[in-house]
Amino acid sequence: MADSREKLKDKKRIVIKIGSSSLTHKESGHLDLRKIEKLVRALCELRSQGRDVVLVSSGAIAVGRQAMGVAKPEETAEKQALAAIGQARLMMTYQRLFAEYNQVTAQILLTKYNILDNVSRVNARNTFEELFRMGVIPVVNENDTVATHEIEFGDNDRLSAIVAALVEADLLILLSDIDGLYTDDPNRNPDAMFIQIVTEITEDLLAMGKESSGSDVGTGGMTAKLTAAQMATDAGVDMVIANGDDMEHIYQIVEGDNCGTLFLAHKNKNFDLYHYVKRY
Ligand code: GLU
Repeated sequence: MADSREKLKDKKRIVIKIGSSSLTHKESGHLDLRKIEKLVRALCELRSQGRDVVLVSSGAIAVGRQAMGVAKPEETAEKQALAAIGQARLMMTYQRLFAEYNQVTAQILLTKYNILDNVSRVNARNTFEELFRMGVIPVVNENDTVATHEIEFGDNDRLSAIVAALVEADLLILLSDIDGLYTDDPNRNPDAMFIQIVTEITEDLLAMGKESSGSDVGTGGMTAKLTAAQMATDAGVDMVIANGDDMEHIYQIVEGDNCGTLFLAHKNKNFDLYHYVKRY
């Protein structure tokens, strides 16, 4: 256990995913700028340490809703329009904050179909490689404006695992609104136990996720996170689920401290991103 945590210090290519609920104030729905500032600083620090960094950020629709004063968009076209508005604003905020540290960023919007298409997938991978070579931090989101299905069922947990596999990252960090994986929903069951390390994603574990997440964001959508963990670990990427309420967690993870739930990679030599993505 301690050894597996120690190894996180040496990770060279890290994908970090942050969800809308961690980026916005619960009450007002506005961006939590103080938190985003801390996130950006942590990412720049990882770059300064010589690591390649990718940020997978949600928040396009949330920011679009705020901009247009829409409480709850119903129609897909409305959500897509809000995503188009919000994504640009979100990037503007990131660009400004990264500029404080003289860090160049890039926007990459992907859909599942880009990964399933052999030419697009190779192009995307080459673009990431080139950006890493240039020292840029890519900021990734789903291309919500064209991907109907992504808006309704998609989630950035899976997307971040796909990106981690695509760029052959060695660590994926999911910043969520929960500390990690519990044996049951900690909000409903006071006896729920925290799981620090997962060496194998078994059927029992997947069932645990289902019970503890339901379909609400309140418990962090554990089912999607476990699907992401399955993909990432199969692709040879260690994954940590940690609470995004405190950006210090990012430092703690890469310093080998016990933070969140660590899913250990067990590279499946037959792992094939195309087939994996096709199944979901
Ligand atoms: N892509 C969506 C957005 O940026 C969010 C998807 C998710 O949170 O998983 O608004």
